[in-house]
Amino acid sequence: MAGYNSAQVDVAVRLNADQAPEPPPEGFTAALAAELERLAWHRYPDRSYTALRAAIAAHHGVDPACVFAANGSNEVLQTLCLAYGGPGRSVAVFEPTYALHSHIARITGTAVAVGERTDALALDLDEVRRVLAAARPEITFLCSPNNPSGMVESEADIRTVLGLVPGLLVVDEAYGQFAPWSALELVGDEVPLVVTRTFSKTWSMAAARLGYLVGPRSLVAQLDEVVLPYHLDAVKQAAGVIALRYDEAMRTRVAALVEERGRLMARLADLDVDVFPSAANFVLFRLRGHDGAAVWQALVDRSVLVRDCSSWPRLDGCLRVTIGTPDEDDAFLAALEEVLR
Ligand code: PMP
Repeated sequence: MAGYNSAQVDVAVRLNADQAPEPPPEGFTAALAAELERLAWHRYPDRSYTALRAAIAAHHGVDPACVFAANGSNEVLQTLCLAYGGPGRSVAVFEPTYALHSHIARITGTAVAVGERTDALALDLDEVRRVLAAARPEITFLCSPNNPSGMVESEADIRTVLGLVPGLLVVDEAYGQFAPWSALELVGDEVPLVVTRTFSKTWSMAAARLGYLVGPRSLVAQLDEVVLPYHLDAVKQAAGVIALRYDEAMRTRVAALVEERGRLMARLADLDVDVFPSAANFVLFRLRGHDGAAVWQALVDRSVLVRDCSSWPRLDGCLRVTIGTPDEDDAFLAALEEVLR
């Protein structure tokens, strides 16, 4: 099988991995350094990451027993598959979507039932009904906003899918802060739903690898049994707690990115490309009459890195660009305009 593959190229403008364009707010690293001075390096970390759990729970107004954290939301997804997937079980995905949902499922020996989105890359509820009825999956993955298309699922659709799933519904909200609504509102002890989030995007902490889910208490208790002991190191626990103190600054940054997204999409629409709607911090667009890989390389030659999705199923001619700083976005737009001309 093919492993994860995303180019890490040394360029001036890096708009390929949907990260935040800026480091954490001023004061973050000093606060973390002070915390590291006090850290008991010779001891294992708090296995239950009590302070971090409480901080995440307070951030969402839920009980700490509803929060499970791990090394990136990828590890959260993996722990879900380890707990509820495995041989003889299956997950459902609706493509094109985040490639790691099916990849992680397969790694854990779980079968993958694949449904297709519409031509416009929207969720097709008839297809959801068909796939869930045929496969009866233990886990159904949705991604909202969806990577790589950028579209958010409506509350009505999520509620409908919740009524259809024979097992657990996982809504991956790695980009949830950029969307107008969140499935977090629907989480409850009697609801077969978890919502996953990450510190890699909004929180400017991709280097630290920290993600979490909010879900039913009984599910969180089961994940605690499955995950490796001491999986969250003390540095990361401290970094997460400190990051959440900057909630206000991050909201301001998200609002600015959403506005910048509007500007970038408007400028893109003036070029010779088709732009998919986006509620995320990235935009997918399809080139008209140009080869995706060739345009991607021509952008790299101009020191601009975006994500080449053109070889992915159903995404021929498609590139995905992360919203960066206005300067980075202008550099991308100028380079793309030059290449398409
Ligand atoms: N879910 C989605 C939809 C993503 O795009 C990503 C990152 N590319 C992740 C999860 C994984 O994020 P993390 O860094 O938290 O592992």
